[in-house]
Amino acid sequence: MSLIYDLHSHSTASDGSLRPKALLARAKSQNIDVLALTDHDNTAGLEEAEAAAGDLGVKLVPGVEISVTWNKTTVHVLGLGIRPQNDALQSGLRHLREFRNWRGEEISRRLAKAGIDGALDGAKQYASGALISRTHFAHFLVAQGHAKDLRDVFKKYLVHNKPGHVPGQWADLASAVGWIHEAGGIAVIAHPVRYKLSATRLRQLLGEFKECGGKGLEVVSSSHSLDECQAMAIQAKNFGFYATRGSDYHGPEHTWVELGKIPPLPAGCNPIWSQWNL
Ligand code: AMP
Ligand code: MN
Ligand code: MN
Ligand code: MN
Repeated sequence: MSLIYDLHSHSTASDGSLRPKALLARAKSQNIDVLALTDHDNTAGLEEAEAAAGDLGVKLVPGVEISVTWNKTTVHVLGLGIRPQNDALQSGLRHLREFRNWRGEEISRRLAKAGIDGALDGAKQYASGALISRTHFAHFLVAQGHAKDLRDVFKKYLVHNKPGHVPGQWADLASAVGWIHEAGGIAVIAHPVRYKLSATRLRQLLGEFKECGGKGLEVVSSSHSLDECQAMAIQAKNFGFYATRGSDYHGPEHTWVELGKIPPLPAGCNPIWSQWNL
């Protein structure tokens, strides 16, 4: 019998709203056999997730989603099957979280100039203390009535040319892939369509990623339409990448995304799990 895989999800260890234990319970209730927990720039949720997965009979793939700056574009690189104890990985992630702390203060200063006071303290009320994300600012801004929902608030406040935008300088591509390899994991480009790159630039990204030793492409994502999944399946084939499938679940308040409720991998893909012995 074929297993159901969801290889991209978030918990309160980054900007998800469910604790790792509750996330695993939800995965179980959605009949998922194999879940990757891939919190942004943090692995602090993996221990609780592993324990819950054992109790529930769900297989956990320990993961992380690393923030990268590639040619001025923010790109997310998933590390799947990592050993979280690895020093190189942890020191890289610690630097990214330190940058996040500074950026959170800067977002708050900029929002104050736009007439919105107390945004950092407000955002922290939606965070577990593990790290600070734009998602936490988004929750605060919606609760304060500055936008109607999470999608709307990004457009109005948190992206380029908007009052709360702070340009980021995250990890470089080679470093992120290097940390993942040091930790024994496989590097995967997350939701490739989200970066809105031209065909030429996307090929450039995938080529450089491959040169760094990257091995996977997230072909199916809740950020992709069916046509986009097909297009990414072709890219994966052209570059010889394994294909992965992930919902990028962040919690039940994002009513348009559910764990595992994304299309299957298109025919002709080489699934990353084909080489796993589960
Ligand atoms: P950060 O890594 O702190 O810059 O925050 C990025 C996170 O914000 C992503 O992982 C998403 O969870 C969320 N996000 C980014 N853009 C949007 C959007 N347009 N609508 C809703 N959530 C978004
Ligand atoms: Mn997120
Ligand atoms: Mn992402
Ligand atoms: Mn994600």
